[in-house]
Amino acid sequence: MAKADKKNKKIVQSEKCIGCGICYSVCPVNAKLIKNDDFDPDTADLALRVIDGKAVIDDEFCVRCGACSKICPVESLTVVEVESASA
Ligand code: SF4
Ligand code: SF4
Repeated sequence: MAKADKKNKKIVQSEKCIGCGICYSVCPVNAKLIKNDDFDPDTADLALRVIDGKAVIDDEFCVRCGACSKICPVESLTVVEVESASA
């Protein structure tokens, strides 16, 4: 049921992001990829990237763990529950 849980959450990004990149470092999905010897940031399935000074989450790879949301110094990322049956 873990996948169903994931579907019921979403990370919402605000405009407050200052591009510090802390979230990029703490993201467990990213951390696992970065450990690989052949890690390539351009092609890796990162859950979160900092692009043009803003954090951008990839919903396909993000597991909604909330680590980025907890660490963000400006509270730019928020985990929200979403209704699965109706939006
Ligand atoms: S919620 Fe998603 S982007 Fe944020 S740390 Fe967890 S896996 Fe990474
Ligand atoms: S979302 Fe928060 S932790 Fe991530 S780069 Fe932006 S300001 Fe930094």
